[in-house]
Amino acid sequence: MALRFFNTLSRQIEEFQPLEGNRVRMYTCGPTVWNYVHIGNLRTFTFIDILRRWLRYRGYQLDHVMNITDVDDRIIKESAAAGKTIEEYTAIYTQAFLEDTATLRLERPERLVRATEHIHQMARDIRKLGEKGYTYSSGGSIYFRIASFPEYGKLSHLDFSRVRSESRIDSDRYDKDSARDFALWKAPKPGEPFWETEIGPGRPGWHIECSTMALEYLGPTLDIHVGGIDLVFPHHENEIAQSEALTGKPFVRYWLHVEHLIVDGQTMSKSLGNFYTLRDVLARGYSPEAVRYLLASVPYRKQLNFTFDSLRAAGTAIERLRNFQLRLDTEKFPPGRSDKMEDRTRQALKEFEEAMDDDLNTAEALAAVFEYLREANAAMDAGEFRTDNVASARDLLNRFDSVFDVLKPSAPPPISEAEIEALIAERNAARKARDFARADRIRAELFERGIILEDTKEGTRWKRR
Ligand code: AMP
Ligand code: ZN
Repeated sequence: MALRFFNTLSRQIEEFQPLEGNRVRMYTCGPTVWNYVHIGNLRTFTFIDILRRWLRYRGYQLDHVMNITDVDDRIIKESAAAGKTIEEYTAIYTQAFLEDTATLRLERPERLVRATEHIHQMARDIRKLGEKGYTYSSGGSIYFRIASFPEYGKLSHLDFSRVRSESRIDSDRYDKDSARDFALWKAPKPGEPFWETEIGPGRPGWHIECSTMALEYLGPTLDIHVGGIDLVFPHHENEIAQSEALTGKPFVRYWLHVEHLIVDGQTMSKSLGNFYTLRDVLARGYSPEAVRYLLASVPYRKQLNFTFDSLRAAGTAIERLRNFQLRLDTEKFPPGRSDKMEDRTRQALKEFEEAMDDDLNTAEALAAVFEYLREANAAMDAGEFRTDNVASARDLLNRFDSVFDVLKPSAPPPISEAEIEALIAERNAARKARDFARADRIRAELFERGIILEDTKEGTRWKRR
């Protein structure tokens, strides 16, 4: 059976077929870089990585664009509070986002594009929408008139026909009960950054950036668009209205939405204050691979209930995979080949692939691999796994890991200056107590972690290798 996705637009499972050959045009909504992302955000980004890798596994070529929202209400507020320009402020969290996603082994999209580098394109698109009669101005701001787009609501399957005409909302994030004409362009406010453009001074609302950048880099019709479930309304509904009003063509063929990661029954979010960043979790001693595994292991259309127990279980699962790999690499098996074992390996691969093709059912894909591991380990113990069964078993494991990417251990986190200083103090104390063996062990440990010590008259100096 072919690759299939649940399409939010049709509310059905549909067979996937790109518009053009084997090229997949994909757009995913990226982070708003006003703070560190939390592991809820990272669930969505990890799903996008699994999707990317599965599309490639199936022979597709990707043209994937992701935006970075580097101007919005929160960024303006927080950067002012920090006494920084929005460029200085967002540079910090853009960098942190790139580091966190690299730590989780998330592939970089083919194009990462920033809102602030496309302000004039957005202004041009807003002017064009105006020329087509989809907008009106009020107080220097420009709004999209949702009554002028009769299909408004087709993604969220909501009826907005009763929304009072020309009632407007200025904030970018709102719920369906506040559905109104939304801001495409916001008039400058005292003390806030703004741009001079062909439609006058101001700054864009949040929704227009995704339409402008998607159309600019991918053309009028995308194959796949992904975001978290909270983006269905209003963000993606607004993206459809803006884009289709501009081009007159269908904007997106397959809409995929990722359910939230929750803690104690509530969505993880900054505003609820119930969040962990990746850095928080790693500081507690969990590995990036365990986080990656956990985030990937629950199928994306199910909520993921985050607990530290499940993170520990993810670590154990990875150990089982690595132990099996170690057996394949180091054990001596009886010569020859067991046909039964070959069939079993082939069947496991088939189950793995079928589960992934089934709307990325990662839980079933993992179940197929672990059931196989259990049986293959038993066959090894019983002498029924032969030398010539190794190649296909290794192939299965490699194929699995080309998507899940958890086998290779991450390097331990770099040692901090405070930790180095503490170890040097401990070594000095050991030397004073003439415990030279212990002092040497500390020097060796630091060397292992990339630190070289130099004893001088003024004391011990250190440098990184
Ligand atoms: P934002 O930076 O707020 O625009 O969010 C970045 C991405 O994370 C969006 O696709 C959101 O839908 C998604 N997201 C936000 N909260 C969660 C959560 N608790 N679980 C999964 N995804 C989330
Ligand atoms: Zn978007």
